[in-house]
Amino acid sequence: MNQAASKPERRLSALAVSRGIGIGRVVFLHGDKRHFYRIDLDPSQIDSELKRFRAAVDASATQLRNLTESNAPDPNRSVSDIFGVHLLIVEESSFIKKISDVIADQKVNAEWALKVVSDEYLQKQFVAADYHLREKHLDIEDVAQRLLTALNGSPPTTQLMYSGAVVVARELRPSAIMELKKCNPAALITERGGWTSHTSILAREFKLPMASGIRNLDQALFHGDRVVVDGINGQVILNPNMETIKHFRALGAATLVNDYLPDETGKATATLDGTTIVIRANVDIPEAYQLAKNFGAEGIGLFRSESLVSRPGSMPSEDEQISAYRQLAELTCDGGLKIRTFDIGIDHFRDSGFSPERNPSLGLRSIRLSLSDSGHFRTQIRSILRAAAGKKIDIVLPMISGVSEILRSKAIINEERAKLSDDGIVFGSPKLGAMIEVPSAILTANEIAQKVDFICLGTNDLVQYLLAVDRDNDSVADWYQTLHPAVIRAINEVLEAAKLAGIPVTVCGEMAGSAFYAPLLIGLGARDLSMNVNSIRHIRHLLSGIDVSEATSLVDRVKACETAEETESLLHDYYLKNWSGLFPSGLLNSKHR
Ligand code: PEP
Ligand code: MG
Repeated sequence: MNQAASKPERRLSALAVSRGIGIGRVVFLHGDKRHFYRIDLDPSQIDSELKRFRAAVDASATQLRNLTESNAPDPNRSVSDIFGVHLLIVEESSFIKKISDVIADQKVNAEWALKVVSDEYLQKQFVAADYHLREKHLDIEDVAQRLLTALNGSPPTTQLMYSGAVVVARELRPSAIMELKKCNPAALITERGGWTSHTSILAREFKLPMASGIRNLDQALFHGDRVVVDGINGQVILNPNMETIKHFRALGAATLVNDYLPDETGKATATLDGTTIVIRANVDIPEAYQLAKNFGAEGIGLFRSESLVSRPGSMPSEDEQISAYRQLAELTCDGGLKIRTFDIGIDHFRDSGFSPERNPSLGLRSIRLSLSDSGHFRTQIRSILRAAAGKKIDIVLPMISGVSEILRSKAIINEERAKLSDDGIVFGSPKLGAMIEVPSAILTANEIAQKVDFICLGTNDLVQYLLAVDRDNDSVADWYQTLHPAVIRAINEVLEAAKLAGIPVTVCGEMAGSAFYAPLLIGLGARDLSMNVNSIRHIRHLLSGIDVSEATSLVDRVKACETAEETESLLHDYYLKNWSGLFPSGLLNSKHR
């Protein structure tokens, strides 16, 4: 472990993707690329080297067993079990046997044998046609790291993880963050990921401070280093001195105090002039909705149903889905539950027979996958129809690019409805909504609005696809411009199309839950916002201090801006001058494009 006190303090700039301050020691989730070294052994040393390796394997297996037991998944939910998979690799796979063979055959130390075998596995996985296998490189890297740590006799990752560690990873999958949150880490740091990456969205939902976009993490940070994660201003302070730690502890506490808002449960959300705004929750785990309701949410505006798919290949059955949907609908009651059908790609299918894709976000995913491989879609539609009996549940179709996909989906829904009816099975009448998030849907919003009961505006993908900028790639974060004039115009078009058709629009991208952007949405005419649970109180407080006519005039000025930078500075100055007391502390100091 590193002696932080002897090292100089360093500041690394980062993207602040989940607000808050976290202080703790670094734990690498997927290996810190520690230096592997080779020692050629004398034949007489082989047995003791094999024993040393066996002891490291046993120690790792014990750690993983403890982790899987203490993090036993909730039986009602299918949460992935990354540590369970790691245990399988350690206990049952050929990986360990191969390392022992290399020690014996090549007469080398265990660390070197571990490197030789893990490199071989990783190489195979990178070129594998099977996406599931390719995804698994993170698991192999993590297991190799754990074994290496055990060989060095260092404290296990898990011990550090329990004591409020800062978990560091090149990339975190949403399933990993769901697992990690049970260990109560102090904060998260990743190399990759933008503000609207699903992992960042979950970090905000779980109130875990997170910073991303730090290049070459494994060269900048080491296991056991003390760090401060400043998820307010976007920086990581490495080896902080006592003064710095005191400063950030105080900042963290002050943020909590300044951001404290009284409980407004039971009151409808209205702007200063009395215009009613519906506030809903985006929810990935059912437990989060109780909190959202306490904060004043009226139903779930976006349930990302793919959160029920744990590992690739483990699609939930009809019964599992019905029970999950009913459980949520019972919580949301009259507020209603909007279930978005699986927004997944072919990487979620094991042995699917689909060819690997060069560009998955433009590939066979979402509604395209549902319509191409309609077995899963039909199961999901049947589940929703059945769960909707006597409950307020609606269907949302993701990534709609035009009317045709809606017509094809409707045909499938009608067929499943007819089958249920023939079989005498009770079902409900969910309304049908289209997620508008790609440019072709914006340009055909008038036609789409004629074919559905409501629209969900997914601003996360809308910005990604409209500006051709990967939302998960922090290198292009400066180009991910929510305030780009094209984005403002697109939102305006969609709201106008819905108004013309007389149907409601729920804005459910992260924009709706950002205090910087929400006034803009209100000025553009949005009256129904669905957001991250932890944004609800701030947004309700903010909107209660804003007059709709003021927001409308502000938007008129925004519409005349030619760049995101110009809009940002206009909004910033206006907010500071007119509404400064309404924003969460520090928010107006950070960059918002
Ligand atoms: C969106 O794209 O804005 C959205 C709400 O969906 P997701 O973030 O799951 O893609
Ligand atoms: Mg989307």
